[in-house]
Amino acid sequence: MRRVAALIGLSLVCGGPVSLAADRALLPTYDLIIEHGRVIDGTGAPWFAGDVGVRAGRVAAIGRLDEATAKRRINAAGRVVAPGFIDMLGQSELTLLVNPHVPSKIFQGITTEITGEGESVAPVNAAIAKEAAPKFEHYGITQDWTDFTGYFARLEKQGIGINIGTYVGATTVREMVVGYADRAASPDELIRMQAIVATAMRQGALGVSTSLEYAPAPYASTEELIALASTAAQFGGIYATHMRSEQESIMASIDETIRIGREAHIPVEIWHLKAGGVGNFGLMPEIVARIDRARAAGVDVGADTYAYPAWNNDLSAFIPPWAHDGGDAKLIERLKDGHAFRHSGRGRGANFGDCLRDERARHCARRRSALGFVLQR
Ligand SMILES: [Zn+2]
Repeated sequence: MRRVAALIGLSLVCGGPVSLAADRALLPTYDLIIEHGRVIDGTGAPWFAGDVGVRAGRVAAIGRLDEATAKRRINAAGRVVAPGFIDMLGQSELTLLVNPHVPSKIFQGITTEITGEGESVAPVNAAIAKEAAPKFEHYGITQDWTDFTGYFARLEKQGIGINIGTYVGATTVREMVVGYADRAASPDELIRMQAIVATAMRQGALGVSTSLEYAPAPYASTEELIALASTAAQFGGIYATHMRSEQESIMASIDETIRIGREAHIPVEIWHLKAGGVGNFGLMPEIVARIDRARAAGVDVGADTYAYPAWNNDLSAFIPPWAHDGGDAKLIERLKDGHAFRHSGRGRGANFGDCLRDERARHCARRRSALGFVLQR
């Protein structure tokens, strides 16, 4: 960089003032003009036809620029030109510590990401840090924060290539107080959990979130979630959710989600709304109708969907919640001990999403072969 600056300086000295003026007249007005696109400017206004002029890496003009000169022009006819997109559910909270430029987002045009799906990057206690240690080791990063203030300070210190916002995850809040056990929170524990949500909201969380298919989240009752969402609502937060089921039990899950919004007086965002599983294809009109009815009745429910047809997940997500009771170490113990799985007295089953949670043998039988393994209990 220094070397380039030196060369430019040299040419200016040699060229003299006359040559400089001539150069300036020949310089194009813009580095780039994106022309003939539909401009959506992010203010909420409808799109309009226009050109966008970029100079020195910044938007310098918006309007009719067909007379202007530019080093480069891009014809965006029939396309949308926008300053950036918001990813309503990304998961870059740790990877952006690995590569702060976050190229996987930038190259998709995403300039803002909201994260924190059920488990959030904060708060952290010793047990959570221990549970998360293999992940941090894998990424080669150090967990040197215990709350959102500390995490955001870390981001500010290193700089990041996108804007980031996060929910406080109800799973994390539960882990902080109840741990990883398959049991209800006591009234006293629930008060402590609400206090954690309040602190997180004061530190900048956008609301409280759930991912109710992933242990220990399923151990939470609807009432527990209403209590946490009520606290977030007091700070203007929203409730965002990966629902308890996106497959066989999706209707009950939609109803639970709407109830949380209604009773906690909080806006709701349903993440990656879908009717998963071949047997559930065709349910979408009824799902949308339920959301519409809730909206008409005054519950502020929104939803988003994947922009792609495929998905992935951790293998542990396919193991039923009861097997996660006590955390990863206990789960691994159970996986190693086939006897415990066969004779735990809770019947026989395998897991692939709801088929196992609902213990519907018909679905399990079909999916067992697809997944290639069977868990017995
Ligand atoms: Zn999810």
